[in-house]
Amino acid sequence: MANYDVIIIGAGPGGYVCAIRCAQLGLKTACVEGRETLGGTCLNVGCIPSKALLHASHMLHEAEHNFATMGLKGKAPSVDWPQMLAYKDETISQNTKGIEFLFKKNKVDWIKGWATVPEAGKVKVGYEVHEAKTIVIATGSEPASLPGVEVDEKTVVTSTGALTLGKVPKTMVVIGAGVIGLELGSVYARLGAQVTVVEYLDAITPGMDGEVQKTFQRILKKQGLSFVMGAAVQKTEVSRGKAKVTYKLKKDDSEHVLDADTVLVATGRKPFTDGLGLDKLGLEMTKRGQIAVGKDWQTSVKGIYAIGDVIEGPMLAHKAEDEGMAAAEQIAGKHGHVNYGVIPGVIYTAPEVANVGATEETLKADGVKYKVGKFPFMGNARAKAVFQAEGFVKILADAETDRVLGCHIIGPGAGDLIHEICVAMEFGASAEDVALTCHAHPTYSEAVREAALACGDGAIHA
Ligand code: FAD
Repeated sequence: MANYDVIIIGAGPGGYVCAIRCAQLGLKTACVEGRETLGGTCLNVGCIPSKALLHASHMLHEAEHNFATMGLKGKAPSVDWPQMLAYKDETISQNTKGIEFLFKKNKVDWIKGWATVPEAGKVKVGYEVHEAKTIVIATGSEPASLPGVEVDEKTVVTSTGALTLGKVPKTMVVIGAGVIGLELGSVYARLGAQVTVVEYLDAITPGMDGEVQKTFQRILKKQGLSFVMGAAVQKTEVSRGKAKVTYKLKKDDSEHVLDADTVLVATGRKPFTDGLGLDKLGLEMTKRGQIAVGKDWQTSVKGIYAIGDVIEGPMLAHKAEDEGMAAAEQIAGKHGHVNYGVIPGVIYTAPEVANVGATEETLKADGVKYKVGKFPFMGNARAKAVFQAEGFVKILADAETDRVLGCHIIGPGAGDLIHEICVAMEFGASAEDVALTCHAHPTYSEAVREAALACGDGAIHA
């Protein structure tokens, strides 16, 4: 048994960042993790492995579609799937070991095993009970299930199984057109699978700017993905390693069946609190099974905090990290802060899709008068040079004050470009401030400036 100032349960982006910051602020800190490696969902079965596969499959796409045009000739690469998985695993390993190094460097104790919280101030791991003045729950999330769909992680898989398939399937049905389904769906489409996405709603990527949704779907269709929209999946059946997916179209209730080698269930994620013993603690929960917290991330039980996917808000690694840092500051008696109005969201397909702040739809619903500055990548010299001139930057600014309210980008490097607008929004900048800032030529970021110019007297290259 050991005594700590803080014990954090879960070493995902929320937990490990919180642990490092607590230690940096002089608190005696431990982090409990049940997995064999640190880094949580994100590093082990989420952000990082999916980005490795997205990168490899994008390189293949470039070789197949653009190399010859650029005068790069030679034998086209073929897919060595075991080697691609090995590259992905090596990427995971480098990152998880990096967290181990950071724990040692910052003197964070890694307690290995699954934790329960018998009472405030106590964390039990195996037979050992550790004491802590403060406990932070950062236990993350797990894939949500769908009635009638039984996951075996071989033929019917969640995102976790989709990252370790035995081979590239010939046919794949993706249930759910959210970020995870579309990222992994486009990986397998680029590797040669025939991918059909079945979505309950009438638009992909719910909550995103409507114009981006339409453009994104059009581009994905061009890349070979098929979509069945407004369809409610009824069941999946597996026989001899092949699956049948039955769905009903909402418009006429007609029933249809799709055959697939692999079915990826990507219908969202739910908070993971199993085994913590929260019911005995009387911790207040939300209706959606998240741990309820106050503005300082403290739960209804004094001395117990919660952060990341296990509480309300977007299930994103950087949101968890920000909460991790902010909660640590609070625990250390400082002032922790997260601006929930400026949390970017990115889809790492090619082209990338990124957004921050308000959409036209939310502004209309809130009765806010706004103006739109839009610029197509077709007018961006750099994007044209690298065959990535599809998409646009759209900035939404207040009609009266010109203050930037949101930004939506579909195009090359969107996931990095969005941060210029995040910073602008943090500083309360106007679209004119962005437009008056000199942007290097030739960069994709010029498209952001042009969109800002389009909020005023007009873009130059449109
Ligand atoms: P987690 O990362 O889920 O970590 C929680 C940890 O707690 C786990 O390691 C778990 O083993 C441990 N744990 C749970 N209970 C206990 C216990 N009782 N005792 C000990 N340990 C316990 N987000 C992005 O921002 N960008 C992306 O590109 C992105 N891509 C994704 C791709 C996929 C395929 C998936 C599935 C997710 C992706 N996400 C992405 C989401 C991101 O992974 C999560 O938002 C993020 O990991 C949440 O961090 P967390 O610290 O709250 O929880």
